[in-house]
Amino acid sequence: MRSYFSVFALVLVGLPSFAQETSSVRYLANEGVLVTHNDTSILIDPLFQNSYNTYQMVPDDVRDAIFAGKGEFAGVDAVFVSHHHGDHFSAVDMLRLLRSQTNTKLYAPVQAVAAMREISTPDDESSFDRITGLDLEYGDLPVQIETANLLIEAAYIPHSGWPTARTEIQNISFRITLADNSTVLHMGDADARIVHFEADEEYWKERTIDLALPPYWFFSSDDGVEILEARMDVRYTIGVHAPAELSNRASIPDEYTGTELFTQPGEGRRFVGSQ
Ligand SMILES: [Zn+2]
Repeated sequence: MRSYFSVFALVLVGLPSFAQETSSVRYLANEGVLVTHNDTSILIDPLFQNSYNTYQMVPDDVRDAIFAGKGEFAGVDAVFVSHHHGDHFSAVDMLRLLRSQTNTKLYAPVQAVAAMREISTPDDESSFDRITGLDLEYGDLPVQIETANLLIEAAYIPHSGWPTARTEIQNISFRITLADNSTVLHMGDADARIVHFEADEEYWKERTIDLALPPYWFFSSDDGVEILEARMDVRYTIGVHAPAELSNRASIPDEYTGTELFTQPGEGRRFVGSQ
């Protein structure tokens, strides 16, 4: 009898905690995601109106749920915009969201905020009180903002096409920690060159990233792979911004085999925070 109990005790010690907390990511389309940890949730690049005939759009019923704050989109703490391009951001949509979800805050490059300001009405003034415009340029140090349940870190990484194209667009890589538990990295349309990450080497190493969401072109670039695998401490990576044609799995080129890509609006994954 005694030996039975000691074996039982050993088994219990070896089990993981029953109440291990998980976080989740829901794919909206293009680079749009909802990230949730318990009661804390954020949206990144969720509202846009241009597919450029290449990318998938957020389904209408999902957009309706976001505007109405229904289901898993209820009580979203903050929305983040990586950059002011039509496949990531719509000023009209974002004003509409802030009007209907009056507790939601917005963090966006000042270029996007200026576009909202241009089309705003006096009724939108209270929305602007909830907007933080990030005025970062290439070479600036990353910034950090703390709220009750979010640690927001923003770094300027130039848009793909650097140094010859699209250099005028502010592209922000957000590293966001939800409820002191789960850290997610969203890079916008970051250019996949090591040189952009070398300048802030310590910044990129100082926090474990539980979920990285790089644009899919990082996977087909030697620099991009090195950034994700060696320049940062990333536990789980899912590529975003895949063209619509890749939603047919058979059309995914060999270079992306063995990587994880979001290709179906509505799909989601669980992940575990380490903070
Ligand atoms: Zn872009």
